[in-house]
Amino acid sequence: MHTIRALFAERILEASMSYQAGPSTDTLEWNQRLLDEAAEHGVTILSHLIGQDGLCEPYDRWGLDYPSGVYKEWRNPSCRNAQPGTEYLPAVIEYAHQNGIKYYAKLMSMEHSWLYADHPDWLERNRYGVLLHKLCPDVPAVRETILQYLVEFVQRYAAPELLDPLDGVYLDHHRYRSYEECWCKHTQRGFRERYGIDLWEATPSQRREYRSQVVAEFTAEVTQALRAINPGLRIGLTEVDESWGHIPAIIRPEATGLDFVHVQYLSRPDRKLYDEFKAKVERYAAFFPEVWLQFDCRTPVPWTVASMGRFWTSIPSMVTMMEFAAEVKRDAAHADHLTGISFFNLTAVPEDHPHRRAVFNCFNYELPEPFEIGPIVHPEPPLEVNIT
Ligand SMILES: [Zn+2]
Repeated sequence: MHTIRALFAERILEASMSYQAGPSTDTLEWNQRLLDEAAEHGVTILSHLIGQDGLCEPYDRWGLDYPSGVYKEWRNPSCRNAQPGTEYLPAVIEYAHQNGIKYYAKLMSMEHSWLYADHPDWLERNRYGVLLHKLCPDVPAVRETILQYLVEFVQRYAAPELLDPLDGVYLDHHRYRSYEECWCKHTQRGFRERYGIDLWEATPSQRREYRSQVVAEFTAEVTQALRAINPGLRIGLTEVDESWGHIPAIIRPEATGLDFVHVQYLSRPDRKLYDEFKAKVERYAAFFPEVWLQFDCRTPVPWTVASMGRFWTSIPSMVTMMEFAAEVKRDAAHADHLTGISFFNLTAVPEDHPHRRAVFNCFNYELPEPFEIGPIVHPEPPLEVNIT
């Protein structure tokens, strides 16, 4: 009998400090209870989406969810972890380690809306010159600012002299925008310098390759700077896609210093999406010795709606996704590279909600023999939640 737990060495619970955070989740005690359950069920890693533009109860303003010293004015006063007097992340890391669980921070990279208003010249622009809400990695000041902020975070929570430094980080939104390409003057200049032709004359594949080269170079700068603080720090990249600047051969570990990638699957059970996901995992596993698979366990409760959550899932979907994860592993050419499986976002699941139990059951799910994925019988309509 095979279980999901036996197939994936790392079972990762993804939570958050301030993204889809509920009235009770922004506390040490909530995280300790989660870690108690995690330890009982064979979870190996707890991660928080943190260091971001977060939203905490009463959901009245966005801001950083840790006590940044460089960007003090952008600390979110509604988030407990953002104030030095009530900061509790070091105690969460300590508690995780006491329970034999590693701690990773999922760090927001190039998407910080608090920088947009003061720096419209840092934003991507589409081919018609319209500003897009996303920082452009071709802008030198963007890279300097993001690097400074990542360094500050890692110094605060991962310096080796700390009693309990965190074990790893993985970068989120570390890329170009997903839906449109950037044509800002910095991107145009960068492309011309590299290819000797104008961006307007470039083929789509040249533009795509260029984006990955820029992301790879910036990633190498980041991993070098973070490992100068803690040489043992593990560093990964989440939400990967070739079109966003993540061509596997270009961002491979030898070029960037990355240890792993985390490939996202959205919650809807769908054979076509599964097949695309499976092919994507294969492409990354050919270059990365560690690939984690991400699935969703979010549920539509008021606080997920308040912070723009929308990828709801259901328990039957979660079980179907586990059978699918087993199928991906079974068929992978580099099956030994598929090392981790994660659920996002436990903070978006109330403590008494059945999804919380289902996540732990999924990690221990006994797979049917042989691993065959059954028919998908529950296409889910989008759920609407009224939060007023
Ligand atoms: Zn640009």
